[in-house]
Amino acid sequence: MTTDPRRQVPRTDTLLADPRLAGAGERLGRVLVKRAVQRVQQRIRAGEVAPGAAVDAVLADLPPVAGSLRPVLNATGVVVHTNLGRAPLSAAAVEAVVAASGTTDVELDLRTGRRGPRGEAAIAALLEAVPAAEAALVVNNCAAALALVATALGQGRELVLARGELVEIGDGFRIPELLESTGARLREVGATNRVALADYRDALGPGTGAVLKVHPSNFVVRGFIRAVEVGELAAALQGTGVPLVADVGSGLLRPHPVLPDEPDLQTTLAAGADLALASGDKLLGGPQAGLVLGRAELVQRLRRHPLYRAFRVDKTTLAALEATLRGPLPPVQQMLAADVADLRERARALAGRLVAGGVAADAVDADSRVGGGGAPEHPLPGAAVSLPPEFAEPLRLGATPVVGYVEDGRTLLNLRSVPPGADDALADAVLEVARRWT
Ligand SMILES: *Cc1c(COP(=O)(O)O)cnc(C)c1O
Repeated sequence: MTTDPRRQVPRTDTLLADPRLAGAGERLGRVLVKRAVQRVQQRIRAGEVAPGAAVDAVLADLPPVAGSLRPVLNATGVVVHTNLGRAPLSAAAVEAVVAASGTTDVELDLRTGRRGPRGEAAIAALLEAVPAAEAALVVNNCAAALALVATALGQGRELVLARGELVEIGDGFRIPELLESTGARLREVGATNRVALADYRDALGPGTGAVLKVHPSNFVVRGFIRAVEVGELAAALQGTGVPLVADVGSGLLRPHPVLPDEPDLQTTLAAGADLALASGDKLLGGPQAGLVLGRAELVQRLRRHPLYRAFRVDKTTLAALEATLRGPLPPVQQMLAADVADLRERARALAGRLVAGGVAADAVDADSRVGGGGAPEHPLPGAAVSLPPEFAEPLRLGATPVVGYVEDGRTLLNLRSVPPGADDALADAVLEVARRWT
C-alpha cells in the first residue's frame, strides 16, 4: 500500500515537543530549532529523509551554537587575516571574555561599593607594557582612535599629513577621508614619494591642530623616497605646542625581531610622539580595539570629549585586552615566532598521515605573510601541505571549514597560521573530503 508521503510528515508541534529537540530549543532558541524542523519536513516530503528519522535529522541540521559565525581553520599562511577575523584570541583571553560576559565589576569598586574607573586594569596592563606612555585609552578600533583624535585636535583646524601617508586601509576606507569627515582640514605636505622636514615646518601656523604620521602598513614605496621620522618631527615641533600623533597601525608594543621594519608603540613614544595609535587585533594579537597611548594631558582631553562615549569598548574587550597583555603569548605572536624547522616537521607529519589515508599529499616549503597587520613585503619562510587543487573548495565547505589557497595547480595548507593544536582537526578535515569522494 502506498501512502501520500505528506501524510507521514511528523507535525511541527510533535517534533518540537520531543525531549531532545525541546532541550536543543532551550539552548539555541526555539526559532532556530523550528526552522531546522521545517527544513527536515521539506526533506521528508521530498523523500530524502524517512519520517521515523526526523528527530535525528533535525539534530544533525542544528548549528552547534546560536550564532552563525563558525570557527574556521586559517591555512592561508596569512597570520592576521582580515576576512577571517584578524587575530585569534588566546585561550586565556577567551576565558577572560567568558568570565566578564555576565554582570561584572567593570565600573564598580567592590571594596567601596561605589562607581570605579572603567577598564582600569586593562589600562594599567597597557602602561606597564609601554612605559614611555603616561596614559592610555581604549576605543573600538584604530579608525575610531583616529576619528577621536581628529575631532578633538583637528575640528575646524588643520591636520598636517604627508602625501605619501594618505593610506587606504581596506574595503575602500581611506584615512584622509575619515579624518576630513570629522570636520578637520587636511594640510597635505610633500610629494607622494618624498617629504622633508621643511615641508612640515612651512605648513605650521596658528590653525594647526596636530601633525599626523600614518604608517603605510599595507604597501611600500621604493626608490627615490624620503620620509621624516617621528624623532626628527618631534624635535622640530618642540615648543610649538602642536601635538605629534603617530598612527603605527600594527599594534606592536615593542620592536619585534622577526619584523625589523614595523614600528612599535614604545619606540614611537620614546622618540617623542605625543600620542601613538594602534589596533588591538593585529600584531598585538588581542581583541578588536583602538589603543591610544601618550601624554596624560592629551589622553585626558580625548577621554573627556563627548565622542569618546560613542567609541568606548565593552567589558569583554577590556577583559580580552588585559588577558592578552598579561597572559601567555597570544596565537599571533606564537605564529610569528614559529620556527621553520618545526613548521616543516609538522608538514611532514601531516602529509605522512594523509598519504597513509590515501590522499596525494606532500610537504612543501611555502612562504607566509603577516597580513593586514603590517610588514607588507616581508615574507616569512614556512611550510605547507600540498594537495590536489580540487580539495580547496570542499575543504572550505566542510564541517570544520579549512581555508587554504591554490597556487601552481596545488591546494596549499600553510601551517604558520594554523595553531599546532589544530593539526589533528586539519588532517581529519582533509581525510573527510577524501572519504566522501571514494
Ligand atoms: C589597520 C590600520 C588602521 C585601521 O585600524 P582598525 O583597528 O582596523 O580600525 C589604521 N591605521 C593604520 C596605519 C592601520 O594599519
